[in-house]
Amino acid sequence: MTTQHIVILGSTGSIGQSTLDVISRHSEVFSVYALTAYSRMRKLARQALAHTARVVVVPSDAHRTEFLEHWPADRPRPEIRVGAQALSDTVSDTDVTTVMAAIVGAAGLPSALAAVHAGKRVLLANKEALVAAGALFMRAVRDNQAELIPVDSEHNAIFQCLPEGMKAGDHNGEDHGIRRLLLTASGGPFREVPLADLDNVTPEQACAHPTWKMGRKISVDSATMINKGLEVIEAHWLFDMPSRHIDVVIHPQSVVHSMVEYQDGSILAQLGQPDMRTPIAHALGFPDRIDSGVGMMSLVQMGTLDFEAPDLARFPCLDLAYQALEAGQSACITLNAANEVAVDSFLNHQIAYTAIPDVIAACLDRLSDQALPTLDSLEAILDADALARHEATRLCRHRAGV
Ligand code: NAD
Ligand code: MG
Repeated sequence: MTTQHIVILGSTGSIGQSTLDVISRHSEVFSVYALTAYSRMRKLARQALAHTARVVVVPSDAHRTEFLEHWPADRPRPEIRVGAQALSDTVSDTDVTTVMAAIVGAAGLPSALAAVHAGKRVLLANKEALVAAGALFMRAVRDNQAELIPVDSEHNAIFQCLPEGMKAGDHNGEDHGIRRLLLTASGGPFREVPLADLDNVTPEQACAHPTWKMGRKISVDSATMINKGLEVIEAHWLFDMPSRHIDVVIHPQSVVHSMVEYQDGSILAQLGQPDMRTPIAHALGFPDRIDSGVGMMSLVQMGTLDFEAPDLARFPCLDLAYQALEAGQSACITLNAANEVAVDSFLNHQIAYTAIPDVIAACLDRLSDQALPTLDSLEAILDADALARHEATRLCRHRAGV
């Protein structure tokens, strides 16, 4: 394997840390070019020191000062770059071969897209980038001969179950005899909580995921199951499948990570422990297999694997996502942006958990007849995103009584 020079966008987050864990097991083939973070400068400094990063990117001059306070005076410092534009510039540097896109939310779109434009090998965790800009993003992958490998566990599982031609970039599933994609979902922490109790659940309860340990935003998304809805949209763009051929099935053990059903009735699945180091190692090493640090799994100890249909009364966000995908790109941008704002308000104790789908639905309603410009540029997409955020913020404030 030739050495990969890697940028980890969002290195201090859950995916970022797991990526560094896998990389540290293979220092002969992976070298850290740059690490980036939006907060937690002490952690960023420790990571940059341990992995001898050449560059770090921080959001402001104040963060730069804070970063330096945590840097030991006797060690050579990395180059410190500041601001959002520096993220896009850094992924485009000539020496970079590989970019792990692991910033949370649509904030990760410009830098992930810049990596694609620069024709890099892009390992994509940031699903919101595809939800907001799927057509533009996938076109840029093709036009710039970038390599796109999904890291989201479901999409990485599907990728592993695809025929070779599709892995190489020929993305028409129906031509390859694929009948259906089956995305599995754990059902989150509230799968069996009485519906009447959902009004009063706390952010801490929503973030206590039964099988996965993740960042706070995606943990709430998993509780509402909008995460699975975003993943349906992500799968639509990655694998060029219409939404009617993408089904969601609840699988509480999170062992079967997703499945591909072929015309002959075969269903191929990828199984493994619920540990993101497996899909991360797969994406880093592809087409080779490398050690991820994940131990063996005992199916005998597991005993039973359960599957059930999602209850849309409990998980209205899942239905909203299917509706947005049918309605088109502006609805997908609104769905994603309104969700980000509503989840943030919920995490800050401003709105109830059950208000999250209400805010998203109201935004989708209000913005559906808005005459938007053609969404064929990053600028137009970011404008539509800002408009939806503005509306969602207004609705959340109204609900919070401020
Ligand atoms: P996280 O909150 O743990 O980490 C997010 C990272 O992004 C941090 O390093 C943070 O500093 C940085 N960041 C946050 N806001 C930023 C901004 N505005 N600009 C620049 N950087 C910013 O999130 P996570 O759980 O690691 O998730 C990252 C992405 O991966 C998300 O899109 C999520 O949906 C996806 N994903 C995560 C998991 C998981 O297990 N955590 C699984 C599948 C997909
Ligand atoms: Mg996932």
